[in-house]
Amino acid sequence: MPKQKLVFFYTLVVLTIVTSVFPQSPKRSDVPDKHKWNLSDIYPSINDWKADLNNIENSINDFTAYKGKLGNDSQTFIDALNSYFGMLKIFYKSNTYAGNLSNEDVNISENQALLQQLSSVGTKFGETVSFFEPEILLIPKETIEKFFKEKPELNVYSVYVDNIQRLRPHTLSESEEKMLASFGLIAGNQNTVYSLFADGEKPNPKITLSNGEEVELDASTYTRVRTAENKDDRKKVFETFFNSYGDFKNTLGANLVGKVKKDWVFAKNRKYESTLQSSLNGDNLPVSVYTTLIDQVNKNLPTLHRFLDLKKRLLGVDTLHYYDLYTALVKKVDLHFTVEQGQQAILDALTPLKSEYLSTVKKSFNNRWIDFIPTEGKRSGAYSTGGAYDVHPYILMNWNDDYESLSTLAHELGHTMHSFYSNANQPFAKADYATFVAEIASTINETLLNNYMVKNAKNDDEKLFLLGSYLDLLRTTIFRQTSFAEFELQIHKRVEEGQPLTGDDLCNIYYDIVKKYYGHDAGHCVVDPYIQYEWSYIPHFMGYTYYVFQYSTSLIYATAFAEKIVTEGNPAVDNFYKILNGGGSKYAVELIKDAGIDPLSPEPFELTMKKMNKVMDQIEEILSK
Ligand SMILES: [Zn+2]
Repeated sequence: MPKQKLVFFYTLVVLTIVTSVFPQSPKRSDVPDKHKWNLSDIYPSINDWKADLNNIENSINDFTAYKGKLGNDSQTFIDALNSYFGMLKIFYKSNTYAGNLSNEDVNISENQALLQQLSSVGTKFGETVSFFEPEILLIPKETIEKFFKEKPELNVYSVYVDNIQRLRPHTLSESEEKMLASFGLIAGNQNTVYSLFADGEKPNPKITLSNGEEVELDASTYTRVRTAENKDDRKKVFETFFNSYGDFKNTLGANLVGKVKKDWVFAKNRKYESTLQSSLNGDNLPVSVYTTLIDQVNKNLPTLHRFLDLKKRLLGVDTLHYYDLYTALVKKVDLHFTVEQGQQAILDALTPLKSEYLSTVKKSFNNRWIDFIPTEGKRSGAYSTGGAYDVHPYILMNWNDDYESLSTLAHELGHTMHSFYSNANQPFAKADYATFVAEIASTINETLLNNYMVKNAKNDDEKLFLLGSYLDLLRTTIFRQTSFAEFELQIHKRVEEGQPLTGDDLCNIYYDIVKKYYGHDAGHCVVDPYIQYEWSYIPHFMGYTYYVFQYSTSLIYATAFAEKIVTEGNPAVDNFYKILNGGGSKYAVELIKDAGIDPLSPEPFELTMKKMNKVMDQIEEILSK
């Protein structure tokens, strides 16, 4: 949906503050061209970029002529849509150029100035087109149908128009909309209060570790020291850290409940049956996608319990505690790859995806779509952007010669291939894919890479390390995130049913869910009482509504696709291409279903659990040697 792209645009602008943290980063001019992206594929020079931005500015001025006329006749309607998407296309292209260029070195102020220029045109664009979608919404369904019959060319905009029109039952009168919008001023308040407290004013407890190191336990120190090898250390870390949140459970609880109530007020006023229905409506997902996830993961808890028993065995402890979960399952093995070795490994690992896919990956390596090397002032992390629709996608990353770099490249290449094939096969207005399908291609690549690495591991230690980190990924992404999703659902339900909800209730609900997931009663893992406060440490509950479940679903569908690709071969690969080529031409669930996996059936969950059990078999086989 274009709206998401617009959001993406603004985030890209804001994201440029963090720079590379690698020590002794080389200068950009010292990096060979083959390791740097070539932005002149988008615009040969900054002057060409400026000329394009001028074009948009002129079009923006002309666009106001459509105001109040969209429903007049099919010609005006299609002209306005062509003009709108024409501007949007140039906008994303110029944004991709300016964003990428400024990320090369955030200290070059001329490049930062381009972003500011773009942002002011963006604001003007946003203001000018603000009438557009509300006016399309008001055009009666019959008129829209008539327009589409008269002008079959309109079909390229069918999803866009339907996405607007299907909001009609949830749109209020003009004055009601205005009033609801005015509450936007206070809508983010609970989240602000939470961040101010959790990241600032909350007193952080201090502890001394067994090596004599004294640490102040804020959220980031906690994630560093919770992996401590010494059992007493991690016990102390968990207990002290979560109790420090427990001291404020009523305040934090009232704040979270306030946010849940706020969500419900908005959803209810928009005539949704639940906050869940309202939240999933963005990608047009049925509520059953969410409940299926929770039901199926609950059904498959024995697989998590098997993992916990294996962890207990590997750690050599009599009783496994929740505080043991972040300790590495096996000892870390250092794997080294140069960029070229990494590229070769990826080409080998992705062989199951057919030569067509591989030749596009090769193109991305040989034609400089990727910026590999961390250099002075370069933005940290990694991303892929397909914003330059008629050019090609780009990847920014910070190669560090390790396995993490390799799997990051595989992951980002998945996004790049998804964007490449969507852009090549769909008109611009249908090319952008939904968040719900966005992580499938990237995760399939990571899975295939892991399969390949395990197969070609030099020794058992290396194999154990790869299998172990893969299992940890499944534990944290599928089981942990779904337990969060279940907590969110329960607390929203309580509010929507008009039941009281206090800090203590939140603790009880959370504690019961965690005990159930980790098999506390059956002795798989002891969940100590202070874990009941963990919800108050997780910022996602405050910052998002019904979002985290997509981490689980993405990994589950991707694992299922990868399993099918490995076991069934070409027919499954052909099906996967339906997602790659499909872009945003259909709604997400339909798209995944067409590609051979039904998100509403147990199949993807069973395939994923089968894979997880297979990995545990492999580990046990090595251990029994
Ligand atoms: Zn991703």
